[in-house]
Amino acid sequence: MTRTSLCPPPCPDAAPASGYISSLSVPETGRPRRLAVLGATGSIGVSALRVAAEHPDRYVVAALAGATNVTLLAEQAAAFRPAALAVLDEARAAALAALLPAGYAPDIRIGPAGYAALAGAAEVDVVVSAIVGAAGLVPTLAAVAAGKVVALANKESLVLAGDLIRETARRTGAVILPVDSEHNALFQALGGPGLPDLPLVERLVLTASGGPFRTKPSDEIAGATPAMALAHPTWAMGPKISVDSATLMNKGLEVIEACRLSGLPVSMVEVVVHPQSIVHSLAQLHDGSLLAHLGPPDMRVAIAYCLGYPARLPLSVPRVDLVKLSRLTFEAPRERDFPCLGLARRALRAGASHPVVLNAANEAAVALFLEGRLPFMGIAATIEAALCAHAGEALPDAAAILDLDARVRRAAEARA
Ligand code: NAD
Ligand code: MG
Repeated sequence: MTRTSLCPPPCPDAAPASGYISSLSVPETGRPRRLAVLGATGSIGVSALRVAAEHPDRYVVAALAGATNVTLLAEQAAAFRPAALAVLDEARAAALAALLPAGYAPDIRIGPAGYAALAGAAEVDVVVSAIVGAAGLVPTLAAVAAGKVVALANKESLVLAGDLIRETARRTGAVILPVDSEHNALFQALGGPGLPDLPLVERLVLTASGGPFRTKPSDEIAGATPAMALAHPTWAMGPKISVDSATLMNKGLEVIEACRLSGLPVSMVEVVVHPQSIVHSLAQLHDGSLLAHLGPPDMRVAIAYCLGYPARLPLSVPRVDLVKLSRLTFEAPRERDFPCLGLARRALRAGASHPVVLNAANEAAVALFLEGRLPFMGIAATIEAALCAHAGEALPDAAAILDLDARVRRAAEARA
C-alpha cells in the first residue's frame, strides 16, 4: 500500500450542517418506556437488557430482534415477554418459535422488513439501534422516520446516511441519543438537554484505547492474527468493532459520527489515545475549558443515560477507583501504523458517497480478515483501493446507498 497516496484527494471541509442532529425533547408519557432492542443478542443488546432489568418499573421490553443466535434470543424473550420478535430468515423464525415457552406466542417478523417494522411500531417509544454494520441502516431509518427516541449504537448508519437521518429527524421530531461512549460523553459534557454549550466548542477530542496493538512494533502489527486483534485490552465488544478498534477504523468511523451528530467540521475533531479508557471524550470550549466525561469502561453507563434521558437513573456498574488507577495518560495515535484513521478523515472530506465506500470496504475486509483470507494490513489496503477507485456519486436515498455498499463489497471480495 502506498501510504503517501492522495486518493481521495485532500480537500477543505465541506460546509457541515450546523447544530445537533435531532430534536432533544423526549415526550414524558407517565408510563414505563416501551423498548425495542435491535441487535439484542449482541454485546450492546445484552447490556441494554441488563439496564432494563435493573429498572423494571421504568422500562418494558416491547420488541427484541437478533440475527442468528436464536437460543439466546429465546432466553431473552422468555425473560422479558415482548409482544414482537424478529430474526434473519424463515428457518430461524421456526427454530425460535420452537424454543419459546408454552403459552407465549409473540409476533415473529423476518429480515430487514421485520426489523424495520419493529423499529417503527406504534407500541414502541425507544429504539435501541444495536445491529452491527450497514445492516443497521434500514431499521435505524425506520425508527427515525417514525419519530422515535433512538438510542443509537449503530454508528455505521450515521456514516452511511448522516444527511438523510438529519433531514428525516428534522421532519419527524425523532430524538437521536448517542450510545457510542465517546459521543455519549460529549453529549453529557455539552450540557445535556438542549446542548447549550455546543456553539462554544473550539474542538472535540475523541479518546481511543489504542487497541491491542498500541505499543506493538510495525512488523508485529503486520503479522497480527484474528485472535490477537479480537483481544481488546479494556472493552468487551462484538468481533467487528473489536477489529475496528485494532485498526483504529473504529475511531475513524467515530470522527465521522462526531461530525454528523454535532454539525462540526472534521478539522475540529481530534483523536488522542488514552489506554485506560476512563476519560470517554472531551470538549474544548472557547475559553480554553476542557469538559470531560469520566466513567468505568462499561457500556451500560452510556446506554442507561440514553434510556433514561433526560433523567439519570442509578446503575450498579463498578465504580472507578481513582487512587488505584493513579494515572490517566494520553498520547498521539500512530497514524502511519494505523492508516485507517486518516482514510476515514479523507473519505469524509472527499464527499458524501466516500464514507459509504469506506464503510463497505471496511466491513468486507474485516470479514475477510476474520476468515483468514486477508492479512491485518490488507484491511487498510482494501479500503484505500476502494476509495481510489471511487469517483463520487449522488446518493438520494437509502436504496442508492445500499446499492453502492453492495458494489463496493463485491469489488473488495474479488480483490482478496
Ligand atoms: P455484536 O456483534 O456483539 O452484535 C451485533 C448484533 O447485531 C447481534 O445481535 C446480531 O445478531 C445482530 N446482527 C448481525 N448481523 C445482522 C443482520 N444482518 N441483520 C440483523 N441483525 C444483525 O456487536 P456489538 O459490539 O454489540 O455492536 C453493535 C453496534 O454497536 C455496532 O454498530 C458497534 O459499532 C456499536 N457499538 C458497540 C460498542 C460495544 O461496546 N460493543 C460500543 C459502541 C458502539
Ligand atoms: Mg466508541
